[in-house]
Amino acid sequence: MIRGNLLFLFLTFSIPALAQEPPYDKQFFENSQMRGSYFYTAASYKSPSWIKNVSGKLPVSDSIFFTPSNALHLQYVSHEKGSWQARLLFRETRGQDFFTPATKLVFRLYIASSTLAKELPSIGVAIRKKAPSFVPMSQFATVAEKGSWQKVEIPLDKFNVSPADIKKIDTIFFKQYSRDGKEHSIYIDQVELLASNQTPVTSAPKLTSAKGFAKHIDITWEPVSDSSVKRIKIYRSADNKRFYPVGIQSPYVSRYADFTDTTGKEFFYKISLLDREYNESTLSNTISASTRPLTDEELLDMIQEAHFRYYWEGAEKNSGLALENIHGRRNMIATGASGFGMMALVAGAERKFITKEELLHRFEKIMSYLEKADKFHGAFPHFLDGVTAKTEPFFGDNDNGADLVETSFLAQGLLAAKQYFNSEVPAEKNIIERIDKIWRGIEWSWFRRDPQNKFLVWHWSPDRAWVINHKLIGWNETMITYFLAIASPTHPIPASFYYSGWASQGKEAQEYRAGWGQTKAGSLYKNGNTYYGIPLKVGVSNGGPLFFIHYSFLGLDPHKLTDAYTNYFENNTNIAKINYRYCVENPKKHKGYGPDAWGLTASDGLWSYQADEPVIGQDHGKITPTGALASFPYTPKESMEALKNYYYNYGKFAWGEYGFYDAFNLDQNWRADIFMGLNQAPIVVMIENYRTGLLWNLFMKNSEVQEAIRKIEGEKP
Ligand code: CA
Repeated sequence: MIRGNLLFLFLTFSIPALAQEPPYDKQFFENSQMRGSYFYTAASYKSPSWIKNVSGKLPVSDSIFFTPSNALHLQYVSHEKGSWQARLLFRETRGQDFFTPATKLVFRLYIASSTLAKELPSIGVAIRKKAPSFVPMSQFATVAEKGSWQKVEIPLDKFNVSPADIKKIDTIFFKQYSRDGKEHSIYIDQVELLASNQTPVTSAPKLTSAKGFAKHIDITWEPVSDSSVKRIKIYRSADNKRFYPVGIQSPYVSRYADFTDTTGKEFFYKISLLDREYNESTLSNTISASTRPLTDEELLDMIQEAHFRYYWEGAEKNSGLALENIHGRRNMIATGASGFGMMALVAGAERKFITKEELLHRFEKIMSYLEKADKFHGAFPHFLDGVTAKTEPFFGDNDNGADLVETSFLAQGLLAAKQYFNSEVPAEKNIIERIDKIWRGIEWSWFRRDPQNKFLVWHWSPDRAWVINHKLIGWNETMITYFLAIASPTHPIPASFYYSGWASQGKEAQEYRAGWGQTKAGSLYKNGNTYYGIPLKVGVSNGGPLFFIHYSFLGLDPHKLTDAYTNYFENNTNIAKINYRYCVENPKKHKGYGPDAWGLTASDGLWSYQADEPVIGQDHGKITPTGALASFPYTPKESMEALKNYYYNYGKFAWGEYGFYDAFNLDQNWRADIFMGLNQAPIVVMIENYRTGLLWNLFMKNSEVQEAIRKIEGEKP
């Protein structure tokens, strides 16, 4: 078993052709998320030739750019005896796996030096592992246009690439062409594979609101329905006279979080619409707001509201449920993240980000969708298509049926929400009854597989049965699965499974734990060691990634759960503290780690999603905001320190429209380009549990939940 990757074991992507999924333009470069350099590049040279690089990466300029806020900078010297080369790699983004058909490579070029046509580099396009074909850039660029941006278009057939290869094109090369020995400076921006010219934009945008926070201003506009709009361009002014472009936004999002990095200052905004040729519409109206200091309470409100928005504004349109990630598949719902999201929506109603009526309407939509969605023995699949309500086997064809763990995350959210509605109000009573029907329909006991089996099994497929055959064995994020299976009023498993399955002392369970933990520590479920001066009663290795203490405990109040080995509030707190002390000690000397940047857990990484843990082999230098922030109830002081650091010091790159981006890595000058459905809600919900205990109280109010606590108590060996 791959260590620490429990949830993400089955990442063998299959890409069925989905009729409804809107495609992305295949884009190699728009902006670097970080200043200074772009991670997905590699520049090298052989003297006496040279190309400027930052630790082997291409530099980016934030003063000369085509689309705000930066462009790639190629500064080079080409000599007879030397050579240089720069590679621009395609950044694979989760769920961005459908592309518009393309016939040409298109980019914007700015020549800043006195450069003759023949002194421009040659450019190449490569398909996975194959040698690229090159053409001289001079054949397609106009050198007369020095000091301004020009569009360069090169038909893909010049590179011996056919339109059918678009998905496989993974690298754009720039390399030495001339031997003139002079220094040249050019900028490259907006590198894409596109088809023929598109229709121009005729509509004009309208800004609707601006709201200032400590160091950023949120602006919103009327949703853009014109399908010829490719981007929205945002301009900022400090004096309402001179406006500067500060950013661009996808037309799927009707807001922009402008991190001005200053407090107590007024800013003015205008926006425009860009078509696929980057022609600009007329500018919008002007709108303004001021940044202002925030109290700690206001800061927590702001953090909760931004992350809540992922599940409110960012929800899949047909179902009202959570997308797997933004920006990824636009129609694909993740069921577990949707359960987390329901609790975030409830917290949002309680905090008055939306009215209770709006919440009710959303749940009417959600329940109508869940009622018609694919279910297998009452359990939901991991992913569903928002349009058709059919299973989406995003993790491969074997995963085309029930996912019991995701179902338990969904059910946890449904049960918490159910208690928020008032059974005296007919419309709310209706939702309560509909939630109850879904909950009572889940056949937890089916997932025992056979009467001899003492474990629950994660997946079941209608045509491949138990082919994945992953048994659920703790300690990890699947505690809520056992808990709800025991709690079920209709299809329960015996409470004895808590000890015979989840906390099993058997050989199979020991080997499972030792396998992924790569240590015997915790292989008997109980641990008993001390790490960084903190005792760990339960947990594999030294506790594992922090999502283990978040996902199951968004609704399930760990204070209320004590088994033969520990109380889970105490144990979860210790797991958070071990993680904290590891990051403070920082044995691998990662940049940024410390008392205000800690919390190793699962998130997007440089090349793939990874579950980081506080052990040397599983610590990749990735700072994941949800790690510390969803730990608020366990470590309020340490979590607040991290929150302030992430927002005040790193907000310029780490903060966005849905709160914090999934992760960043300061060693590599890298930031994730996505928000994750699994990681935003735990921040909202756990901050709420820290502030008021709301979601814990709601979930624990369910009589079946209370009964399950009693049943587990009664099984203590
Ligand atoms: Ca740009």
